[in-house]
This record gives sequence, C-alpha cells and structure tokens, in this order.
Amino acid sequence: MRRIVSSGAPGSTPPGVRTTMTTSVRAAVLSDPGRERDLNEDSVLMVDFSGGGLFAVADGMGGHAAGEVASRLALDELRAAYTYGSGPAPRRLAQAVQAANLAVYRQAVGHEAGMGTTLTAVLVDGGAAIVANVGDSRAYLYRQGALTRLSRDHSWVAEQVRLGFLTEQEARDHQWRNVVSNGLGSDEKVRLDLLGVRLEAGDRVLVCSDGLTGVVEDDDLITLLGQDAQPQDLVVRLVDTANERGGPDNITVVVVDVLQNGPKPRYALPTLNPAGPVSITTFDTPRRGGLLSYLTLAVLYLTLFGMIVVPTWRTLIAALGVTALALLLAFVVVRRLRARPPAPREATYEVAPGRADLPATPRERPE
Ligand code: CA
Repeated sequence: MRRIVSSGAPGSTPPGVRTTMTTSVRAAVLSDPGRERDLNEDSVLMVDFSGGGLFAVADGMGGHAAGEVASRLALDELRAAYTYGSGPAPRRLAQAVQAANLAVYRQAVGHEAGMGTTLTAVLVDGGAAIVANVGDSRAYLYRQGALTRLSRDHSWVAEQVRLGFLTEQEARDHQWRNVVSNGLGSDEKVRLDLLGVRLEAGDRVLVCSDGLTGVVEDDDLITLLGQDAQPQDLVVRLVDTANERGGPDNITVVVVDVLQNGPKPRYALPTLNPAGPVSITTFDTPRRGGLLSYLTLAVLYLTLFGMIVVPTWRTLIAALGVTALALLLAFVVVRRLRARPPAPREATYEVAPGRADLPATPRERPE
C-alpha cells in the first residue's frame, strides 16, 4: 500500500491530480484504481523540460503485485535512460524504451516470471511529438474537434479488428480483450511502434491506459477533450466518466495542452511500420566518431613528421599541432553538450493502493 506523489501546485488542483506547466506545455495526470479493483497496477510519468516534456503510462501485468512493480520499474528506467541518453530524440526515446524493457525483463527473470507491462510514451520535443508504444495503452491527438489515434494496440483483439474478423465494438466486449500480444519484459529485445507528428499550439494530447478506453469510446473522448477546460479538470472528468461506466479496470490519464508552435524538429519524424512493431535492433546504429579519430591521428602524425623533418620550425609546428588537437577536443565537447537533453525539472509517479490479483495467464490481465 503506497501512494507516492511529488508536491503539486496548491489551490485549484483537484485531489490526486499532479500538474506541470512550462512555456510550451501545460499538463496534468491522474491515476485511479477504478471501481472493481483495490490494486492499481498502472503507473504514470510526467517529466517536463524546456521545449516540452516526457509523458508516459504503463499498465502492469503479473500476479502478486508484480504488475505494479513492473509498471513503476519501467517508468523509472524510461526516465533515467531518456535523461542520460543521447542522439536524435526518436532514437533516444526508442533506446529508453529498450532500457525500460531490459529492467523489467531482468526483474521478471530473476524474481517474477510473467511480470510485464505496457508502455505508451509521448515525448513533446519543440514542435513535434514522438510516440513510442508497446502494448495496449494509448495516445491520442485532439486537434480542432478531430481525434487521431497516435498508437495502435498490440493486442489479440486489435489484430482481429485489423484483419477484419472483429468490429471495434466486438473487440471491446470480447472475452480476450485483455490479452496483449506485445509487452515490456517478455523478451530481451523489445518490439515497439515509433511515430512522430508535428504539433501546433492548441493541440491536446491524451495518454491513457485501457481502463479509460475500455469503457469510454472515441466519440465520448472527442466530447470530453473538446471542453474548454484546464488539463487538471479534464483528467478528473475522464476518470470520473470511466468510473461512472463501472470502472472495471485501473484508469490512468495524462492530458497535455500544447501552448505554442515549437520549432521544426531537426530530425526525420518516424513513421509506423505497416507490418507491425519493429525490433529495437532497427534503431541500433554503429557509433560514429570514426572521422574524428582519423583526424586526430592525422594531426598527431603530421605534427610529429613536421617536427622531425623541419627541426628549425619545431616549436611552431608543435604549437599548430596542439592548437588543432584543442579545436578537435572543443568540437567533441560542444557536440556532446548539445546532444544532451535538458535536465528534467520534475517527475511524478503515482501508484494507488491495493490488493494482488492473479492473472489467468502470465500475459493476461486479471478481469
Ligand atoms: Ca489495464
């Protein structure tokens, strides 16, 4: 039984809601066990930094509170790995998801077989959002009355809908609706969807667990997200709506309002692989730096060669060589610093209290 929250803004913030605000986003999160379960196996992450933030929902699976451990572990690791990662944002996010996967995988192998979690992360990076998804939690973009799903479910029923064997409604009511086909912690190498979209001022992003979308359909989400309300009030209305419809599952929601048109990203926005989630190995690129190593060796060689061949100019050649090496070093340091993401100002994790449930199968959530 625990409830870990960071200090939020006093005053108008509803109980349990955490909020954050920067010049570029205003966001709120709320996680609720729902009406039928005592245990909340969902976790939520909110990290803000200049130009955006990292927002994520994880829906844990596994008996004896393992789901709760898995979802928290995944988000802890996601935050750390993204913060200390490097490279273009999409690859850095994908590698942070893999780090989260490995953390859960090792915990599952060492302690709790069948432990796993979904993970849906939205990185707001200036004028773009990068969505990473594993499992059946969801991300949506609400823009001027239209709702776009930014994630696709990795679940048995979603696969049947894609193949045309089930309708959305049949999937929602299906006895196997809780069976995910892909999750963190089941394999050493994660398979994920990665998608990038441009953001505009006025956009509203929703990240949520299936405790919301299992009972609240897209049409109702459009109505709710279309309300002229602050994120901190919207998250309460979303959770309340799910609870009014029975609240059969843990409900976690993140609402992020985009406040300004951010700069165009300096990287290509990733697109979904039509055939399904891709292995993390796709994002592994060999480390660059080969050219820099050659340049350094060339400068060293030429300096020494010059000093031997023209001994009278030895001092001048040595000075030029040292200057060239110092410039190369400065270039490397500046590039490293620019690649490092800004330090997060605040992180919020919420886990609501509860009781352990045993799932029917290790990859299936309890009813
Ligand atoms: Ca769930």
